[in-house]
Amino acid sequence: MKTIGLLGGMSWESTTLYYEFLNRGVRERLGGLHSAKILLQSVDFAEIERYQVKGEWQQAGEMLAVAARNLQQAGADMLLICTNLMHKVAPQIEQQISIPLLHIADAAGREIARQGLKKVGLLGAIYTMEEGFYRERLMEKFGIEVVIPARKERELVQRVIFTELCRGEFRAESRSAYLAIIEQLKQQGAEGVILGCTEIPLLVKPQDTGLALFNTAELHAKYALAECFDARTAAA
Ligand code: GLU
Repeated sequence: MKTIGLLGGMSWESTTLYYEFLNRGVRERLGGLHSAKILLQSVDFAEIERYQVKGEWQQAGEMLAVAARNLQQAGADMLLICTNLMHKVAPQIEQQISIPLLHIADAAGREIARQGLKKVGLLGAIYTMEEGFYRERLMEKFGIEVVIPARKERELVQRVIFTELCRGEFRAESRSAYLAIIEQLKQQGAEGVILGCTEIPLLVKPQDTGLALFNTAELHAKYALAECFDARTAAA
């Protein structure tokens, strides 16, 4: 079994999901007392958020690249950045490590393609929804078209992520607002919706809507587990 390197803390509310999904996944596969081999470097999210607000992505990327190198040096066989948004700086991080970086958009794309969907909605941090690093990857690698909410709704989604979900607050009125936005995405032709922020699955659950939801934290962990047990690349 390989060792999974997690770059977490963005926010820690969702990093705990990764820890649980990975350990459950290993127990399902191997049974008994088996659990995942994990290295976690967890950052202070306030420092990262400060860079985001100032648009200092290069600095944020450098801070995460240092953490990624630490994980590699400590023995991680692969790297997961436990947030969708900070994949904006994934190329900068990837340049500074030699272990594979498992991209969260690929985790989503693989599952959407497996289910045969062609057009999906995307909810996440405003930069994730508006910029190309996520949507273009889904189109280029998987041929998946992504639709996003209107500006006012994008701002609401962003505000709830940073002022509630990343602080461990889960409010019924925010859940209702998200579900209304999911309904609008369906009207725009979405056959499913990517929960493209790792905290959103803590607020919106599959049973809340009839539309397929793609939980990126869970899919990312599953992607890592598949790599972990990949016979072609398995470490002795
Ligand atoms: N966890 C969120 C995501 O998956 C946003 C937090 C952040 O990285 O800024 O995008």
